Order: sequence, then C-alpha cells, then structure tokens
Amino acid sequence: MEPTVVCPKCKDEQPIKNLLTAQSNQNVIYECRRCGFLMRNIITKKG
Ligand SMILES: [Zn+2]
Repeated sequence: MEPTVVCPKCKDEQPIKNLLTAQSNQNVIYECRRCGFLMRNIITKKG
C-alpha cells in the first residue's frame, strides 16, 4: 500500500507522493489538492 496523508483541514486522504514537493534545500511542502492547504516541513528527520 502507498503511504497516505490526511489533510488536517478537509480530512481528505491522498497518496503522500502526489502531495509532497521536495525542494533543493530539503524543505518538504505538503499541498492538499482538494482544499489547497499548505504545510511546510511535515517530515521530521529520524533520530
Ligand atoms: Zn485539504
């Protein structure tokens, strides 16, 4: 199964790979395709 993420705003569940944009500075931005909710740095480094 694909990992999914639930939008905290509209509660829509979508495949995470479709929503995450990894930038060159390693910031990761989550953008909901449904409501347009934007959230930065949702992935934390392990350890
Ligand atoms: Zn949403």
